[in-house]
Amino acid sequence: MVPASRSNPVPTYRFAPSPTGRLHLGHALSALLNEAAARQNNGRFLLRIEDIDQGRSTEENVAGILQDLRWLGLQWEEPVRQQSRHMADYGDALARLQHQGLVYPAFLSRGEVREQITVAEASGLKWPRDPDGVPLYPTAERFLTDAVRTAKMAEPHAWRLNMDAALQVAGALTWTETGAGPGGETGTIRADPAAWGDIVIARKEIPTSYNLAVVVDDALQGITTVLRGRDLFHATSVQRLLQVLLGLPEPVYHHHRLILDEGGRKLSKSIGSQSLNALRQAGMSPTDIRHILGIG
Ligand code: GLU
Repeated sequence: MVPASRSNPVPTYRFAPSPTGRLHLGHALSALLNEAAARQNNGRFLLRIEDIDQGRSTEENVAGILQDLRWLGLQWEEPVRQQSRHMADYGDALARLQHQGLVYPAFLSRGEVREQITVAEASGLKWPRDPDGVPLYPTAERFLTDAVRTAKMAEPHAWRLNMDAALQVAGALTWTETGAGPGGETGTIRADPAAWGDIVIARKEIPTSYNLAVVVDDALQGITTVLRGRDLFHATSVQRLLQVLLGLPEPVYHHHRLILDEGGRKLSKSIGSQSLNALRQAGMSPTDIRHILGIG
């Protein structure tokens, strides 16, 4: 594997928000740390809008995010990469995994998955869960006969990675962590993609998934250091796996602390964490935001 520093000699950082709401303090920390790292290393600071989820992303939020970042005093290189405009790139990557026979069409609905788990757990089996606590997808569809699979292909289907087959191809994987994981993990980290089971590569309604789009874009944008919140530390395992399967360069990873609310929960759009926009309207300045974040 070519180290990122050799495949791209220019230190390149990115901030990659999803426009499913306005930015909060956790996003501000990520964006400011990325821009500062780029500046200190004479590198580049890029922006990527992760809007593959067209049901939840809006152009209004994209505009709001740009406004929030400008208010913080950030400058990034143009053009901004907006994922929804590059579906063909993710389609190419999916096709390569299909060609290697590492993905299979997955037909089960959420309800059907839940039902299988309920039945299994009622008989005393403990169903495995991923690092986010979500039950792993059942693997039976790996083994459908060609005839059955072909007959079902007209139905809506996602594409999932056959994790066992993928691990056989990729072998043991590590990454270099210059920040820290939730348990203080740092240095050379052994990746554990198997903990995620047969991950989704392309969803039923979109020809990609978060993990596929992120590794394709980190490679296309020449990202040398992925600097982001610690909540994505464990996802790095599957991103390293996809990089190896697709022959993409390996960035260095740096996961930073999370900003928690008063209840000790991670800030998120879904629990209505106070947005930068609301803080600005309440009279706060970008300097106040830096102070709150402890990066004066
Ligand atoms: N779009 C993701 C988010 O907003 C970040 C992805 C990444 O940094 O890898 O949580």
